[in-house]
Amino acid sequence: MTDLNRRHLLAGAAAGTAAALTSFGAPTARASVAPAGAQAPGFYRYKVGNYECTSINDGARSFPLPDTFVTNVPKDQALAAADAAYMPKGMVTVPFNPQLINTGSKLILIDTGNGVANLEATKGAVGRTLQNLAAAGVDPKSIDVVLLSHLHPDHTNGIRAADGSMAFPNAEIMVPSVDWAFWTSDENTAKAQTNEMMKNYFANVKKTFAGIESKVTKYDWGKEVAPGITSIATPGHTPGHTSFAIASGNSKILIQSDVTNIPEFFLRNPDWHVVYDTDPDLAQATRHKFYDMASAEKATVVGFHFTFPCIGHVEKDGAKYRLVPVAWNPVI
Ligand SMILES: [Zn+2]
Repeated sequence: MTDLNRRHLLAGAAAGTAAALTSFGAPTARASVAPAGAQAPGFYRYKVGNYECTSINDGARSFPLPDTFVTNVPKDQALAAADAAYMPKGMVTVPFNPQLINTGSKLILIDTGNGVANLEATKGAVGRTLQNLAAAGVDPKSIDVVLLSHLHPDHTNGIRAADGSMAFPNAEIMVPSVDWAFWTSDENTAKAQTNEMMKNYFANVKKTFAGIESKVTKYDWGKEVAPGITSIATPGHTPGHTSFAIASGNSKILIQSDVTNIPEFFLRNPDWHVVYDTDPDLAQATRHKFYDMASAEKATVVGFHFTFPCIGHVEKDGAKYRLVPVAWNPVI
């Protein structure tokens, strides 16, 4: 009979190794199949009415939890949340997931990830959008619209290929007008020079959109920005931060973008402030409003920083919220 207490489990593991050695002889070099040594492609298809959607994984980054990752609670509390989510010790893991929407007449990519230029620098951790699109059989030239939720680097930088040319050469690039006005303002840029993070954000917008400033399409909130895709005002994370409702037939999903960063921290603790928010109090108010609506509607929610394939339902849990991820569906 197997005894499942911890001491026995650990002892059992050692005994198991010993047993394998004695009863089957010394392990011979039987590894005739070489290990793959790399992760499988990251894409996942799901339907919204007649629309075929694909969650595209750009990767995930694990890094030592910065002292001020959560700005309004002591670091110990943030570390405890990371621990509770079984993240690597002392670290935080942030995934990135653009969404591809095929309406039948248009191919729309919502957000683009960190950019393929980051692939080598991060040893393949992020910048995988192009290769995962390819694995899903999607030619970057076939993308009609790149719809950006806001102008942070992990959402915008994938518009550029490794050589700096446009990664989706035939796509119209759509940006929220409020974010565009904010991040391209000389006055705001000047004010940001004393804050390293904000300074870098402004510089990144300038660099990423250099030469295409006049070609981007600016969109407003509460509008059908592409067939069946409506922009929803969810400001705070950035001034023009936008979520989207995708509707086809009787089906609808909400693409929340960054209403929360990682749910393990900020959905469980909706009043925690992530360091990346431009207006943390407004982001907090938006978060409650958005999830109260999503949970009341039992809406399917897609989160850019949720664990791949990043689709689930949000439930109210007292003053907090809980994410119930969808099960992998073998048919679509
Ligand atoms: Zn983000």
